[in-house]
Amino acid sequence: MPEGKYSYHEPVLLEEAIASLNCRSGGIYVDGTVGGGGHAALILERSAPDGFLLGMDVDGDALQAAEKRLMPFGRRKTLVKANYADMRKVLADLKILQVDGILLDLGVSSHQLDAAERGFSLLKDAPLDMRMDSEAGRSAYDVVNTCSERELKDIIRKYGEEIMAGRIARAIAEKRKDTPIKSTTQLAAIVAGALPGGFRHKKIHPATRTFQALRIYINNELSNLHRAIFDSTDCLKPGGRFSIISFHSLEDSLVKNGFRSLEKGCICPADMPVCACGQSPRLKVITRKPISPCRDEVEANPRSRSARLRTAERI
Ligand code: SAH
Repeated sequence: MPEGKYSYHEPVLLEEAIASLNCRSGGIYVDGTVGGGGHAALILERSAPDGFLLGMDVDGDALQAAEKRLMPFGRRKTLVKANYADMRKVLADLKILQVDGILLDLGVSSHQLDAAERGFSLLKDAPLDMRMDSEAGRSAYDVVNTCSERELKDIIRKYGEEIMAGRIARAIAEKRKDTPIKSTTQLAAIVAGALPGGFRHKKIHPATRTFQALRIYINNELSNLHRAIFDSTDCLKPGGRFSIISFHSLEDSLVKNGFRSLEKGCICPADMPVCACGQSPRLKVITRKPISPCRDEVEANPRSRSARLRTAERI
């Protein structure tokens, strides 16, 4: 890992994301994916002298790193080990009724990718794991070795958008008959071996989509995001901002469509003569098009290349 200014994780779209929150002194902000605290530190700086930040993460390593980095802000911050999908409950437990801004920076941190033992990287030999919270839930080892071939195919197709999902699932099911599949590089080799030649010589590793699919499935990433969008919106004060940085098209569509449907309000079928759902608009979309990193950022931090920022404002 490079020993830079942010050795835990280089924050992506840092200026853009924090500017989108309109931070002000006295404001209350939630960073639902605090990671190494890069975005959180700038929120605290921009809301000085008395803005408050709640930082959440499911990863104990992240909370330790954030605690260290945010130490200078003293009691202006609280860090909690929790899933951002439970934000409303976490805020209620802290007796916070409404907040001025919420940030979610989805995906994995550089620390999680770089720490081989977490099992996120297909290039580093390690036991299969991929859990964001290494103390809870099923690991990649469990999923790869116990799900049926059919389930594996569905997971890899749905969350990896992998057209070769059937072949990959069959190869996994064949290999594990002898002994369980234990390591990241073993799985990566099985996936690569299952694909026809043309698929093996692309720029990205042939197992990238399969690894992405397993990670999304294991950590319930899309259902957490869906819950966070529809549940946390009510935690915002009128005028409060909700900003989400996503890293692939499945996430970005969920954010785009989620914000849009909260902007529209009514969810009645188009042919209903009058509204029966009674849902009123709750958000106004600020970014009609998502914000992407500039060329300089992508050059300096290639992991930022697929990032998209979308912001909406509570009505
Ligand atoms: N913005 C951070 C980096 C975030 S990386 C920074 O500037 O350093 C994404 C983080 O989200 C990781 O630490 C990961 O553990 C966390 N995460 C992923 N899913 C989560 C969830 N459902 N709830 C809370 N945190 C989550």
